[in-house]
Order: sequence, then C-alpha cells, then structure tokens
Amino acid sequence: LKRLTAGLKRSTGAISSGIGDIFTKRRLDDAALEELEDLLITADLGVSVAAKVADDLRRDRFGKDISAAEVRAALAARIRQILQPVARPLSLEGGHKPHVILMVGVNGAGKTTTIGKLARQFRDNGQSVMLAAGDTFRAAAIEQLQIWGERTGCPVVTTKLGGDPAGLAFEAMSRAEAEGADILLIDTAGRLQNRTELMDELAKIVRVIRKKDASAPHDTLIVLDASTGQNALNQVQVFSEVADISGMIMTKLDGSAKGGVLVAVAERFGLPIHAVGVGEAVDDLRPFDADSFARALVG
Ligand code: GDP
Repeated sequence: LKRLTAGLKRSTGAISSGIGDIFTKRRLDDAALEELEDLLITADLGVSVAAKVADDLRRDRFGKDISAAEVRAALAARIRQILQPVARPLSLEGGHKPHVILMVGVNGAGKTTTIGKLARQFRDNGQSVMLAAGDTFRAAAIEQLQIWGERTGCPVVTTKLGGDPAGLAFEAMSRAEAEGADILLIDTAGRLQNRTELMDELAKIVRVIRKKDASAPHDTLIVLDASTGQNALNQVQVFSEVADISGMIMTKLDGSAKGGVLVAVAERFGLPIHAVGVGEAVDDLRPFDADSFARALVG
C-alpha cells in the first residue's frame, strides 16, 4: 500500500493541490467547475468522470461557498462509487482443474511480470501452477517467462521462437492435465499492429484450449500499464473486440502519475479490477481496494 500511495502521491499531488488552487475561499460557480473538470481530465480521469463530479457539486453546492477539502471529499466519494462495484479479487470459481487463465495486453504492459507475481501468490496458497509462453514472437518474452518459472518454482511450457501459439496452448493444456496442475497461466503476444492477426491468433488459442476443456479459458485478463494514460482505454476497447475479457490488472501504479486512468477504465467498461501492480518484484501485486485507492488518488 505504501508504494501505491507513494506512486499515486504524484497524481494526488497534482489533483489535491490543483483543487487547492481552484477552491481558495471560492464560491462554486461555472468557472470553478470548468477549472475542476479540466484538472480531472488532465489527471486522466476522463471526460465522463470529470463531468459527473462537476454535476455532483453543481447539484449540491452551486452558488455556495465551498472549501477545497469539501471538493476533495465529493471527488473521493464519486470515485469510490465507481470503483467499489468493480473491485473484486480473482476468485478461481468453478472447480476447474486446471483453471485456465489467458493473459492479454500490449507488449510492455507487464503481462509476463504479472504472470510471475500471480504464480507466486497461487503457489503460496498451496496451488500447483503451470505457465505457458504463448508470446512466441519475442525471444525475450519466452526467456522472461522461463526466469519467472524458475523464480516461482513453476514449470514453463515453451515452443521455439516463431512457433504456433495455439499449438503451444494445446500442449500446455495436455501437460497441465497430465501433471494435475491446479492453474494454467497462458501468456500471449500483444501485437496490436495487425488487429486481424491478433484476433485470429487469440481465437485460435481459445479454440484449441476448448478442445481440451469446453469451459476454458476460465478467466481472460487484460493487463494495462497505468503510465500509458488514456491509451489504456483504447487497449481495452481493442482487446474486448478480439477476446472475451473477464477482468483487468493495472500495473505500474508505483511509478505513475496517471493512476486516474484506472477510474476512467472502470467507469467506461465496468470490468472487474482484480489486482494492481506496484513494482517489478515478485510480491509487488496487491489486491485492489477501492477505498484506499480513492483516498490515495485524491489525497
Ligand atoms: P509484457 O511485454 O506485457 O510481458 O511486459 P513485461 O512483464 O515484460 O513488463 C515490461 C516492463 O514493465 C518490465 O521492465 C517490468 O519489470 C515492468 N513492470 C511490470 N509491472 C510493473 C509494475 O507494477 N511496476 C513497475 N514499476 N514496473 C513494472
């Protein structure tokens, strides 16, 4: 939580002091509301959330004196209201063995790292985990996953560079079943350059997985990098068109001045937020808590 708070402090700093600048002994008028909306948009909360916060204040306090503290409280309340319904730990329901989790997201978002962190958490829970290096297009991605496998004591299924990701997924399913793994985490390539290819590739992976288990994948998680700001919205949009996204994990909330985009994504897509990444180390994955996030973001 400390790291999350420290990371968000930078955005907090901006939002909190910005509110302080706008609302110094000031009557709540149109100009003040407009400045507030601009501030929230700059902080990546998005146009829609910014408008809602302004509407809340307009409805309740227009024409009256209002303090910065009161504005911060109203903002935090609205953010909590957006985040509380989507804050949901990954539950692994259904008694599937293996429980298959497909990880998607653009290159560099933190997929491989997040797989490593999840693997550690599951292992600490006493569950056996297998990893599949489905991003067969980048040697570094395969190597990274192997390193995470060693680090967390989980077997990693790989194929050669440029190999068929669907074939690999099928092999991983077979091995996970044969070896009785509780959870299978499948990495994928995040190449957004060619949407049709991406769609075909993910569809094919899902198709072969289902030959082994018609109910799989049981979770399809999108990994988003908080520091990409509003771009994250676009990524969710694109991946929702090519995969049946069941939830999200947002990374790099430790170093980012852009934690606000998490609120924008939650408001627009309503996807469950399972966890947040707050660093590069194996234990830097935290459950997502709406209340502390709202408090940390607003200050
Ligand atoms: P992938 O291409 O989506 O698999 O992304 P990687 O897992 O390789 O991560 C890309 C970079 O982001 C690596 O240098 C990671 O160490 C780093 N990274 C991942 N998650 C976090 C996080 O929560 N915080 C920070 N600061 N860095 C992270």
